[in-house]
Parts: sequence; C-alpha cells; structure tokens
Amino acid sequence: MDNFYAPGKNHLFVPGPVNIPEPVIRAMNRNNEDYRSPAIPAMTKILLEDVKKIFKTTTGTPFMIPTTGTGAWESALTNTLSPGDRIVSFLIGQFSLLWIDQQQRLKFNVDVVESEWGQGANLDVLAEKLAADRTHTIKAICIVHNETATGVTNNLATVRKLLDHYGHPALLLVDGVSSICALDFRMDEWGVDVALTGSQKALSLPTGIGIVCASPKALEATKTAKSVRVFFDWNDYLKFYKLGTFWPYTPSIQLLYGLRAALDLIFEEGLDNVIERHRRLGKATRLAVEAWGLKNCTQKEEWFSDTVTAVLVPPYIDSSEIVKRAWKRYNLSLGLGLNKVAGKVFRIGHLGNLNEHFPHSCTDSGGRRKHGITIEGVEAHDAEGVATWLDGAAGGTRLLL
Ligand code: PLP
Repeated sequence: MDNFYAPGKNHLFVPGPVNIPEPVIRAMNRNNEDYRSPAIPAMTKILLEDVKKIFKTTTGTPFMIPTTGTGAWESALTNTLSPGDRIVSFLIGQFSLLWIDQQQRLKFNVDVVESEWGQGANLDVLAEKLAADRTHTIKAICIVHNETATGVTNNLATVRKLLDHYGHPALLLVDGVSSICALDFRMDEWGVDVALTGSQKALSLPTGIGIVCASPKALEATKTAKSVRVFFDWNDYLKFYKLGTFWPYTPSIQLLYGLRAALDLIFEEGLDNVIERHRRLGKATRLAVEAWGLKNCTQKEEWFSDTVTAVLVPPYIDSSEIVKRAWKRYNLSLGLGLNKVAGKVFRIGHLGNLNEHFPHSCTDSGGRRKHGITIEGVEAHDAEGVATWLDGAAGGTRLLL
C-alpha cells in the first residue's frame, strides 16, 4: 500500500493553502460564540476597518464572505454587471481560465485576450480595444493580478494608466487571490473597482473567507447591475452594516479570531516589510532555480512573481513525478503543473507567513552565513539569503533529476 504520509514534518510549499502560523492556530482554537452578542459585531467592525489596509484603500467597502476565491469572483461579477455586458478578460493561465469560464457561464459577453502561458496580460491589445471603443461598450476589465498557475504578475498600474489615457469608464475588477498581502497592491492608487482575495493564501489562514473590496464606483454599479445574486448580494451586507450587527448570515467565529490574529502579525511586521520579505524569497527561489539549471515558466523578468515560481522541467521529465516523489520521499508538498502546463512545470509557493531559516549548509565553519546554497556544486549567490525550504526543495529535485 502507498504510504500517504512520509515521516516527519510536512513541508508545505504549494501556492495555497499555505502554512498557518502558530499564533493564528491558537487564536482559532476556541468555542463558538453567539454572533449576535455585542462582542462579534464589535470585533467585526474593527476587522472591516483593518482589512482595508491590506488592500491599501481608504475609500473601499470590504465584505468578508464565507466563501473561497471562486465565490469572491462571483460576488465581484454579479454585483456590478448585467448578463450580456461586454467584458475584456485576460487568459494567461489556469486561474484566469477558470474565471473566464465563470464569466461565460454567468452570460457575460467575454472578450478574451489570450497570451501564451508564461506571459503576462497583453496590454497592447487592451490599448487597441480601449482606443476602438468610443461608445464605451466595454463595461469591465477583469484581470488576475498574479496568475498562480504560471507565476506571472500583471502590471495593474499600466492597466489603470491605459483606462485613464483613453478616458474609459470600464470597471476594473482584479483577482488578488495570490497577491494581496504579499505583493505590492494599491487599490486606491490604481483605481481598482473590485479587488478580492481568499483567506488561505497570503493571509495564512484556513480556507473559508473571501474578502472582497468595492470602490464607491463599484457600489454605484450595484444599483443597475441585473445579474441574479442571492448569497453574494452586497446589499444584504450593507443592510446589516447599517444596523451595526454586520452579518446577514452566520460567520465562522473561529476564522474571525484567526483573521484578527493574522492581521495582527502582518501589522506588527509592517505590510511593506511583508511585501519586501516576499520580494526577497521570490528572488532567492529564482536564483536557486537558475542554479539547478532549470528555467522559470515566466518568460520575462517584468512578470516574475514573488509569491509563486513555476519551474519548467526538461522535456524528458514528467513534472508530476517530481511532485509525487517529493511528497512520498521527503514529505514535501510542491504544486503540480495545471492544465496546459501539466507535466511541464512544478510550482514552489513562497507566500504567506514564511521566513528564511539558514540551514547548517548555509553557514561556513565559523557559523557565518555563506549567503548561498550549493546544489550539485553550483552556488547560487544571493546577498540577501536563501531560505531553508529551498534547500529542501533543491535536495528533492537534485535526487529526482
Ligand atoms: N484565483 C487565483 C489567482 C487562485 O490562485 C485561486 C486558487 O488557487 C483562485 C482564484 C480560486 O480560489 P479558490 O480555490 O479559493 O476558490
């Protein structure tokens, strides 16, 4: 019989769900409470103010919905748009593909702009479409900030610049599931109308809260949006916000306490430091991949993701086998390649509450940091350091390749 669990600690390096820090686990280990008591609304009120900080918005209205990223997508679309509305949507990997599928099933008229997997959204095509759309038939631009399947980060500042340049009023709907709280994200500055994330990604919580933030323009759009919505109707939330009770239906008490603890950790570190830490870990991962002699699936530096790296393997190797063996032999969870890149890439998630822990091999005989990691005799120099888990991942791939 296959052993499901190899001995020792599981080294979780998929790009979500991610490791949950101990203080968060402890904060969630509690009984249920009456969500209509004075305590939960008081806590919710502060949480709603605090989650705005991770979106970098002062004008947005947040909704903490008991759902996943997929539900958050649906809430963004159905609250702001009507069936038949034309939307421009970028297909660059599995998650943008799934969002497009949802958009089509919700009966929007989806104008798909496709790029090769490993490339970012084609913003030249967006410019052409905006320039040609003098009568403003495009009602929304939908874009995944960080495509988790390929490790590609799109440039949202440029999307905003293009919309402004052409004076185009389309709503900007952004999937920030694997970016918010880890990558630089500026809802107000970039004029994002709806931004969303899921609790199991950079917030380092269990799955179960979809956090969606709507700009004043997006809230205005709800008044004319004709899409059918029930569970995801923001108006139900707004009604309870006004009453000061906040919840139209039962929230997970444990997740709320977990969210409180997760935000406390993030604010204690400082959001900008959190983003900087992800930059460092992303760079260290890419250096290690280079040192292994492997290629990043992401084709250009401008799209490199600091939360996930999709590693291309040579054509004679099935990347799923690497993931399988890493799990079986080392209790190491790496991300599979999905859909078009199945068998071609494996993914290393480096998001959430992670640190650099220098293993023995990264110190010299005097115990000083060598700032590097040796993989098959190749040293990946990185002045800022290389994380332990890369050593783990490197060990796995070295043996397997
Ligand atoms: N968007 C992105 C970028 C994702 O990475 C994911 C999941 O990994 C989703 C959306 C879907 O989220 P969920 O699986 O929580 O529904």
